Amino acid sequence: MVEFDMEEKNVLVIGAGIAGVTTALKIADRGIAVHLVEKDSSVGGHAQESCCKAVDNVCTKCGACLLKDRMDKVEIHPNIKIYLGSNISDISKSEDKFSVRIKHNDKTNSVEVDAVVVATGFTPFDARGKGRFGYGRIPYVFTGLDIEEHFKKNGEFNEIPKRAAFIQCVGSRDPHLNKGYCSRVCCRYALRLAMMVREAFPEVKVDIFHMDIQSSGKEFNMLYDQCKNDSKIEFIKSIPTRAREISETKSVRVLYEDMAEAKLIERDYDLLVLSIGIMPSEDNQRVENLLGINMDEFGFFEPVDSFSTRTNVQGVFLSGTCEGPKSISEAIRHADKTAVDVMEYL
Ligand SMILES: Cc1cc2nc3c(=O)[nH]c(=O)nc-3n(C[C@H](O)[C@H](O)[C@H](O)COP(=O)(O)OP(=O)(O)OC[C@H]3O[C@@H](n4cnc5c(N)ncnc54)[C@H](O)[C@@H]3O)c2cc1C
Ligand code: SF4
Ligand code: SF4
Repeated sequence: MVEFDMEEKNVLVIGAGIAGVTTALKIADRGIAVHLVEKDSSVGGHAQESCCKAVDNVCTKCGACLLKDRMDKVEIHPNIKIYLGSNISDISKSEDKFSVRIKHNDKTNSVEVDAVVVATGFTPFDARGKGRFGYGRIPYVFTGLDIEEHFKKNGEFNEIPKRAAFIQCVGSRDPHLNKGYCSRVCCRYALRLAMMVREAFPEVKVDIFHMDIQSSGKEFNMLYDQCKNDSKIEFIKSIPTRAREISETKSVRVLYEDMAEAKLIERDYDLLVLSIGIMPSEDNQRVENLLGINMDEFGFFEPVDSFSTRTNVQGVFLSGTCEGPKSISEAIRHADKTAVDVMEYL
């Protein structure tokens, strides 16, 4: 176990996803001691669940491989002490120092730090919250995360799908659920996964139900054009109202409104993917109680202004998706900025 000189500057990073790991590495590389606390049994967070989305062996710049190198480095960095399976049980501030209690099973470590970085990430939307799409009830309905994990394990599909569909914005851009924001990542991963499904099963037809596609950057626009030019991918500008199981044909029947014709249409699929988005972490309320940092209307943590990673509590900073939806590369850029802000503060 790494031992630190408590007379030197120390920083606490809560959460070891791609953002927490990136901020920790940047700060530690500058000679500052970092206590990196992760509640799970490994570092990496949700980025570990993302599969490589190369199509025909061509990289689609999905960002999933940006994690590996950083994970290897953080585990052996001499200035980083990692506490796995651990939680912060208490934090108090006096003058410029924070006294922190880190709990692991029955054992508690007490440390003093000069700054705190919150990198507690996000929680994926629980698709059962949209019961009308049948997730958890209909065996042919999956989430984007399920398909990512499936490809990651190089898993086989039980049946070769002939018709597949993606439903976008599941749990996002939904004022009824108090999720009026765009999750930013689900159009990108869905289009990449759609192309992977097409590559794996050349005969499959794929429909993408959407409000609009959140396109960003030249790379993504090229990918979007590639999908639009594929005669077996159809973009349907409508979000279905419900899905029901058709057991005789082992399929799921989706009902949607054809906006142009103003009529209801039903289509059957043997694979239905719900593009779930990014929700505030289920831990945010607990972290807010410990630190007193402000949250926005949706439950993400709020910086003092949009150019900064500082919070309303002096010495406490934000890194990654705890502040709002981001892709892996956006979370890395944000985490780099956090490290710069922390170094400036110290
Ligand atoms: C279905 C889906 C697919 C996606 N696919 C892609 C993709 O292909 N490409 C892409 O760029 N992005 C993708 N994303 C987004 C990507 O997952 C995120 O950008 C990235 O994981 C954000 O990293 P993070 O470190 O901010 O948060 P997280 O990955 O959530 O990490 C936060 C860490 O903090 C820990 N933690 C939380 N609370 C505490 C606490 N109180 N104490 C200690 N530890 C705590 C968590 O256990 C976790 O390890 C996808 C997202 C979803 C939902
Ligand atoms: S960026 Fe994504 S698609 Fe490209 S090699 Fe890395 S994991 Fe694969
Ligand atoms: S990224 Fe796309 S699917 Fe996700 S919430 Fe935004 S518009 Fe909807």
